[in-house]
Amino acid sequence: MLSWVQVVGGVRRRQHVEKESETFADGQSKPEEETMLLDFMDAHRAELVDFTARLVATPSPNLPGDERAVVEVIQTELTRLGLEGAEVVAKHPDRPNLLLRLQGQQPGPTLMLCGHSDTKPVGDLSAWKTDPLVPVIENGKMYGLGTTDMKGAVAAMVYATAALKGCVADLAGDLLLVINADEERTMEFGSGFLSSDYGLRADIALLGEPSGIDGPEFEYLHVVSRGISCFKVRVRGTQMHSSLTDRLEAVNAHVVLARVLTFMQERLALTFTSHPLCPAPTVNLGVQVTGGVGYGVCPGVAEFQSDIRVLPGMTHAQLKVDLQRCLEACRQEMPGLEVELEFESPPLDWFPPTEVSTTHPLVDQLLQASEQVLGFRPQLSTFPGGSDAKNFQGTAGIPTIPSFGPGWLPLAHGPNECVGVESLVQAAKIYAVAAQAYLSGDSARGDSAGGNFDRQGSRDRS
Ligand SMILES: [Zn+2]
Repeated sequence: MLSWVQVVGGVRRRQHVEKESETFADGQSKPEEETMLLDFMDAHRAELVDFTARLVATPSPNLPGDERAVVEVIQTELTRLGLEGAEVVAKHPDRPNLLLRLQGQQPGPTLMLCGHSDTKPVGDLSAWKTDPLVPVIENGKMYGLGTTDMKGAVAAMVYATAALKGCVADLAGDLLLVINADEERTMEFGSGFLSSDYGLRADIALLGEPSGIDGPEFEYLHVVSRGISCFKVRVRGTQMHSSLTDRLEAVNAHVVLARVLTFMQERLALTFTSHPLCPAPTVNLGVQVTGGVGYGVCPGVAEFQSDIRVLPGMTHAQLKVDLQRCLEACRQEMPGLEVELEFESPPLDWFPPTEVSTTHPLVDQLLQASEQVLGFRPQLSTFPGGSDAKNFQGTAGIPTIPSFGPGWLPLAHGPNECVGVESLVQAAKIYAVAAQAYLSGDSARGDSAGGNFDRQGSRDRS
């Protein structure tokens, strides 16, 4: 055990929790087990915080991308907590993914709790007030690289799994803990590999990405994740000696580009149905502009890059139609215009949007557990960034809640990243209580209406 961390607070919260759990009475054993889960987390508070600190102190920046050391720390902790049978699967030996299945005693769905073990690189070290690889606790927050994104949530999920193993006698379905590599860059070695080559299966997944934005931690329960489509629009002019443009016919590709960009900005109409949690896509045309040669040369070619963040229900095929229609209208207005559309190569051409129904039992169970542990219900919302949901849902077909975890998204990928120490314990409690409710047999019955779970099938690969 390392000694940077100190236990903070908690007595008042524990009393609050016990009182509420006693009022949660729709079964004999449920409130008792729930109280045991909450007590487990209070009893293991210092260990959970210390484990988070050890994860932060074990670098796993991506680039370059090597999660071996941090996975070893997690494996050691799992063993220490009596969680045997973890499996490491990898597309490349330096990029391990860790899977642990808590097998239920009764048939039921598989709930996947998932976090990534890599972080962004440190970046500008001079902007950090503390050493990013030496976790420091100050004013109830732990500072260090990966605290918020998302080693704190990984630690909380490990402890939630341990609590379920220790406190719940009878799970109807399996809990599958997945700690994946490579979220911060290509996703190829983590969720990409797991969702395709490996054949990961589960009935629902919860990613512990930080869910505070401009309010408290746990501000939102993000059930929707917008997709991304990236493309270029290229125009052609006349590359020639710039001293001759008064005597010979010349088209300046940059001037044309400016007109096309403005035309699209004003006239592009996308086909979509407004989503209750995400009313419209974002359209950012010309996020980068390139072209030309330099002084003395009339530019012959220019292009601008653009990204569109797409909503559930939008398709790549329809987006292509919308963009081509707009460019055709532009050609009508600008005779002789030479313009072409080119999507980026995969995966940037189309990251699919994802969505979990707000009526999914786990959504309500997370809200209820939050109310019990935090004293408030997070607002349902759309996750602004990209996440592994893209592969888990888009490729493997596992409905994936893209973000509900401790920390603040705006602090991710920046200096002085931090997570609330108390939030680590709260996250572990929420994950454990919601998982117990989901795997209690009640939601399994509600869930099976979707026809998505099959005990053998869910278990056959991991
Ligand atoms: Zn993350």
